[in-house]
Amino acid sequence: MLPSRRDIRYAKDHMVAKYDAIILGAGQAGRPLAQELAKRGWKVALIEGDKLGGTCVNTGCTPSKTLIASARAAYIARRSFDFGIRTGKVHVDFPKVMSRVERVVEQFRDSIKSSLDSLNNLDVYYEYGSFEGPGRVRVGDTVIEADRIYINTGARPKMPTIPGLDEAGALDTESILRLRELPKRLIVLGGGYVGVEYAQAFQRLGSAVTIIDRRLSLLSREDTDISEAMRDLLEGEGIRVLLNTETEHIHKTDNGIRITLKGRNAPNSIRGTHLLVALGRTPNVEKLNLESAGIKQDADGYIVVDDQLRTTIDGVWALGDVNGRGAFTHTSWDDQLVILAQLDGKRKNAAQRVPIYAVYSDPPLGRVGMSEQEVRESGKKALMAVMPMSSVGRAIERDETHGLMKVLVDAKSNKFLGAAIFGIGGDDVVHTIAELMYANAPFTVMQEGVHIHPTVSELLPTLLGKLEPLK
Ligand SMILES: Cc1cc2nc3c(=O)[nH]c(=O)nc-3n(C[C@H](O)[C@H](O)[C@H](O)COP(=O)(O)OP(=O)(O)OC[C@H]3O[C@@H](n4cnc5c(N)ncnc54)[C@H](O)[C@@H]3O)c2cc1C
Repeated sequence: MLPSRRDIRYAKDHMVAKYDAIILGAGQAGRPLAQELAKRGWKVALIEGDKLGGTCVNTGCTPSKTLIASARAAYIARRSFDFGIRTGKVHVDFPKVMSRVERVVEQFRDSIKSSLDSLNNLDVYYEYGSFEGPGRVRVGDTVIEADRIYINTGARPKMPTIPGLDEAGALDTESILRLRELPKRLIVLGGGYVGVEYAQAFQRLGSAVTIIDRRLSLLSREDTDISEAMRDLLEGEGIRVLLNTETEHIHKTDNGIRITLKGRNAPNSIRGTHLLVALGRTPNVEKLNLESAGIKQDADGYIVVDDQLRTTIDGVWALGDVNGRGAFTHTSWDDQLVILAQLDGKRKNAAQRVPIYAVYSDPPLGRVGMSEQEVRESGKKALMAVMPMSSVGRAIERDETHGLMKVLVDAKSNKFLGAAIFGIGGDDVVHTIAELMYANAPFTVMQEGVHIHPTVSELLPTLLGKLEPLK
């Protein structure tokens, strides 16, 4: 994105400047924090080395969920006869799918740009910033100073060291968005949430997709029944899932790649036209020159912070993915609320939040609090109930009965410990449980309330009626 005239003028005219706050990175925490502080009358410098909006808007949530929406449209169109609707042959216009993704991303980014442009005491620098000591940051030729510096530089795709990978040329979650031709055979390395989401989307758009993961299950942090249900879903749509499989060597071929594999049930090798590496993320810290300010990182490079998001030096905080305390847009967003609460003298910290996230497979998996495995490991006395989505009327009516619902409750206090809602609407439904967890309320509040018919949520009281001691 090109800087506005005001941004260029500022960078030229002000070779040294003092601000009330400097914010490095215009991601999911930095941008709203900059806006709010500027609205409060602070003189704020927002430094962004790439694109406003960061990962979520440009290469993460927004493009992936927009692509998934097209993939679902193709899926429903193909299934239309199940609902008594005849259509013609379904044709995916992939370049058009990707232009739509681009358009939605631009729309989000433009709206961020205009909201920032309207603020008088906010200066946006379109360069990478780096520390020049405590309280000092270099942006291009300019050095700026502030007593408060907030780091929100995010993370980027992690590339493994696999023999042949560099020569073979793999896609990551950024470059996959530049494709304009649908991959014929896509191999996805990594069965975490990003791998699962892209695998299903591309399969639905017409690629033949294989997922390879060295771990024993997809979504390895989830309970086995959830991971198995996810595997059933993907395999049911024609995706090949190779688990417990090591990638030994990647060879470039005339029309793509060949990967040699090792694993008890794995073939010796597989071929694909494209390879997507979805093996996690690594923090953006290299450009920051953190050492010059004495800011400490952990063994994986994440900036060390306490519950108030303070780094190891005074006057510098780290927010979002770069602090390693959450890897989601909502955790990054909540981090800037932690900062604002501190400024307002309110008690809020990053340790108070209930873990919550979704996997945007279709149907989605909504997760809150502890998993069954975590509850077992904690030794807590708990009650658990599980119900298949095939018992949910709304799912039957929509002919989308894949998945299951699971809740865990503390046996002494009757309060929720966690839940997994893997099924239609799971990403939204799980919030009702999250809210009761924040309210510190027992599950009976949900059980006694009236729910709308026909919804997925109306089955939650029935599910709670099935609670039994966790054996
Ligand atoms: C494919 C994919 C799908 C995802 N889907 C979801 C989802 O559905 N829901 C969800 O909650 N999360 C999702 N995420 C995760 C989410 O995108 C991130 O957790 C979120 O964007 C983190 O925001 P952040 O504020 O920490 O940093 P970012 O949004 O990454 O922003 C950091 C910014 O800092 C800039 N920067 C870096 N270094 C410097 C520097 N030295 N100087 C100046 N600027 C710098 C970068 O250019 C970037 O713009 C997804 C991620 C991916 C990759």
